[in-house]
Amino acid sequence: AKIQGKRRWCLFDDGMADKVRLRMQTEQHLRQAMTRQAFELHYQPLIALGSGELTGFEALVRWRDGQQLIMPDRFIPVAEECGLIHDIGEWVLRSACISAREWQDRYQLPLRVAVNVSARQFAAPDFVRRVGLILLETGLYPHLLELEVTESTLQIMEDSQRILAELKALGVSIAIDDFGTGYSSMALLKHLTIDRLKIDRSFVKDTPEAVRDCAICRAIVTLAHSLMLSITAEGVETAEQSAFLSKIGCDTAQGYLFARPLDAAALAGYLANWQQQ
Ligand code: C2E
Ligand code: CA
Ligand code: CA
Ligand code: CA
Repeated sequence: AKIQGKRRWCLFDDGMADKVRLRMQTEQHLRQAMTRQAFELHYQPLIALGSGELTGFEALVRWRDGQQLIMPDRFIPVAEECGLIHDIGEWVLRSACISAREWQDRYQLPLRVAVNVSARQFAAPDFVRRVGLILLETGLYPHLLELEVTESTLQIMEDSQRILAELKALGVSIAIDDFGTGYSSMALLKHLTIDRLKIDRSFVKDTPEAVRDCAICRAIVTLAHSLMLSITAEGVETAEQSAFLSKIGCDTAQGYLFARPLDAAALAGYLANWQQQ
């Protein structure tokens, strides 16, 4: 039993070492990716459920590694841990604002761009100043920029309220991402000034069949509207989900039913097509 115990410990130890090695490798590759400008943004359309009109895009980062496209869930957590998220986040924000400015100039479309902000980025003492500088530099109307933060990000920060107020003063809007999946969502709504809730995909995916999920979506929409907040449903994949969300008064939707996140070439085609209509 002793030997077995020892062997098990060894296995666990090797696993840990592998994990550490993999993480260090990823971190090193991430640093190279930053200097080689190997990141790209894909843009997923945000659609007004009433009219079917395009209202904007959410920027989603990818890492181009040769033929491979690496998804954010695989590298954002590592970037958060090693601090590279500040550089990546700054690049994402600037690129997204440049794109939104282009949509406005080239296509005469006043489209919103939604940008994901990670916890460490939000917590940086100069975050608000950086956002302000990027807006000045790119000349984007501040109301066309929406920052998406999660409940957990807002919770761990003592001075969330002050930061959000400063961002509001800049004129940018704020969405709570993945709403309902964190803790004490209600406490946040009591204290913070925000503009939009995004219903997490986990609550959307089994509608309209699952009664409980429908009830949860309905409650979130009612809550948002009572507080004068806009509401976006994410992960809408079927016409039935879209019809249900529209029926309960959800303003905006995003999901594979309308479009996948689009790379630069696909985005150009999408916008050209949109402008013609
Ligand atoms: P998120 O903010 O909740 O983004 C929505 C995710 O759902 C995206 O995954 C999107 O591609 C995916 N999605 C959209 N519509 C559908 C659908 O109809 N069905 C399904 N199954 N999925 C759908 P993605 O691009 O892999 O991003 C994953 C997460 O990585 C994001 O979740 C966000 O938390 C994070 N992320 C992405 N870009 C950035 C970034 O620039 N900065 C930071 N800090 N985080 C980012
Ligand atoms: Ca998001
Ligand atoms: Ca989300
Ligand atoms: Ca989500």
